[in-house]
Amino acid sequence: MQTCNLSEHNFEQCTKCSICTTVCPVAAVTTDYPGPKQAGPDGERYRLKDPAYFDKALKLCLNCKRCEVACPSGVHIADIIQHARMRATEGQRASLRDTLLANTDLLGTMANLVAPVANTALGLSPTKLVMDSVMAIDKHRTFPAYSRQKFETWYKRHAAKEQDAFAHHVSYFHGCYVNYNFPKLGQDLVKLLNAVGYGVHLLDKEQCCGVALIANGLYKQAKRQARVNIDNIRKSVTRDNRVVLTTSSSCTFNMRDEYPAMLGIDNADVRDSISLATKFIYHLVDEEKIKLIFKQDYKKRIAYHTACHIQRMGWQLFSIEMMRMIPGLELIELEQECCGISGTYGFKKENYERSQAIGSALFKSIEQAQVEAVATDCETCKWQIEMSTGLPVENPISVLADALDVEATRKANGL
Ligand code: SF4
Ligand code: SF4
Repeated sequence: MQTCNLSEHNFEQCTKCSICTTVCPVAAVTTDYPGPKQAGPDGERYRLKDPAYFDKALKLCLNCKRCEVACPSGVHIADIIQHARMRATEGQRASLRDTLLANTDLLGTMANLVAPVANTALGLSPTKLVMDSVMAIDKHRTFPAYSRQKFETWYKRHAAKEQDAFAHHVSYFHGCYVNYNFPKLGQDLVKLLNAVGYGVHLLDKEQCCGVALIANGLYKQAKRQARVNIDNIRKSVTRDNRVVLTTSSSCTFNMRDEYPAMLGIDNADVRDSISLATKFIYHLVDEEKIKLIFKQDYKKRIAYHTACHIQRMGWQLFSIEMMRMIPGLELIELEQECCGISGTYGFKKENYERSQAIGSALFKSIEQAQVEAVATDCETCKWQIEMSTGLPVENPISVLADALDVEATRKANGL
């Protein structure tokens, strides 16, 4: 069992200002949830007196961390809540639905084998009705399409051989979404980094980062997978001298901050070597180590949505500043609001309406922005926004790759 390090979470430092409650997206749409102050530091005092005390409403917390960003006293409110959940559910088996939703590696491997059939079946009303009534996966939810070919397969066949020829090297933690659903994002990163002289390598072994396992209470499995990932990240950093880049804000946040906070995995020696690709590229450009040349005729109007976990890291600025370098791009920065999906949370029947209510302000602001696409660093925000607004949603790396003049960039970088 994980233990809650109280002084690390600083609940004693709560000054009861209630600022956290004003930013909580769940407390804003339902009175069923007591809000971060009460669920976090206030509730912790009760739980210390009576370890059996647990308010079931804590399960409504999205673990979005917006309360932690707002707290002026640095209280790790969401961590307090998640640890309380962990203690209260210790020894309980997760439901079949939660186990399936959380095992993205298993689902992706099976779905890739029969991608066209799986995609059609998951979109059919009868399938959705069965999943709704049998599994309690809400019938209104749209599942992301699976790819016929995994990113790893594409990489081995089309990119692996060329990577050693470059002068500089990085590793890429692609994550489940790129591997099983959307290999184009990984291909875009390879295209972008190769054009500026960087070879892109995969880790010796990679498993799902485990963010959905943690959210669904599968802590032991999450810990096993976290160990595999950190061991292989460590090999990349210490053996190969390669930093590890990602294109998912949730995978990044999970591996950097949730591994030690939620799973007790010590990643201190490699934490700073795990970075979002936009941050890495931003620094290369800022330090004038590389040059990016964009297409003269590129023209787009895109709105940027700050995903909760990138906001917690404070790294949205890197994605925004990178996209602002594209001359033909008109970038609208949206208010920082939660989209409501929070990974698998919004897929569950009991959460669906709340999930959509949380996201409604964001959907409205996207509609008012009159853009042709939305950019965000989180894949589940992408699913939620695409389903709820009908607009395409792209990762900033894909926006950069689409706007890039590859030949001119290669020349400008001496390739
Ligand atoms: S914002 Fe921080 S200090 Fe204020 S009530 Fe919430 S936890 Fe306490
Ligand atoms: S993590 Fe998000 S949902 Fe949970 S209490 Fe904090 S602000 Fe509310």
